[in-house]
Amino acid sequence: MPIGGIEEFLVWGIADFVGQYYSSLGLSVKIGDVIPEEVFSRAYNPLRRQYAGRFFLPVLAEVRKRKNAAAALGVTRLDLYEEGLNFIFGLGHAGLRAAIISTFRLRPEFCGESSDGELLLTRAIKEAMHELGHVFGLGHCPDERCVMHFSNSVIDTDIKSPFYCRSCRRKLEKNLGVSS
Ligand SMILES: [Zn+2]
Ligand SMILES: [Zn+2]
Repeated sequence: MPIGGIEEFLVWGIADFVGQYYSSLGLSVKIGDVIPEEVFSRAYNPLRRQYAGRFFLPVLAEVRKRKNAAAALGVTRLDLYEEGLNFIFGLGHAGLRAAIISTFRLRPEFCGESSDGELLLTRAIKEAMHELGHVFGLGHCPDERCVMHFSNSVIDTDIKSPFYCRSCRRKLEKNLGVSS
C-alpha cells in the first residue's frame, strides 16, 4: 500500500519483486489504494520530527482484514523511529500481519550521494522482503547475506541479498504451510 507521495516506480518495483518471489509460496501481490499521509498525523513526534512506526501498523492491518489478505505492507517516504532507536528502516508485526517500510534513509541523497533510483529500489525491495519475513514469523538471521540479517545502516542493507537464506526459506515454507 502506497502512503502519500511515495514514487510509483518504487511501489511497482517492490510489488513486482515480492510478487514474483512469493508466488513460489502460493501468494500473490496486489497494489492497494494510496493512503494519505494525514491518516498518520498522530504518529508524528514534533520533537524528533519523525513518525512512530508502530502507529502505522493497525491502520494497515485494518485494510488487510477488509481485503482478506495474508499480509499488508505499507511504503512511505516519511522518516520512522521507535522508542530507543534513532530511526528504523521498517517494522513488521506477525500478530497484526502488517508491516511498514520507509524510503527516507534508503535514499542515496540522504548520505550525500547523488540520486540513484535503481539503488533506492534495490534497497527498498530488501527492506520489504525483510519486514514481510517478520510478518510471516521469521526473526533476525546471523547470515549477513540473508535478507533477514539486521540492518544497522544502508551498508548492511547493501551487503545483504534480497533473498532469504536456505534456513529462513525453510521456516517460511513451514509457517506458510507450503511443502518444498
Ligand atoms: Zn528486522
Ligand atoms: Zn536467514
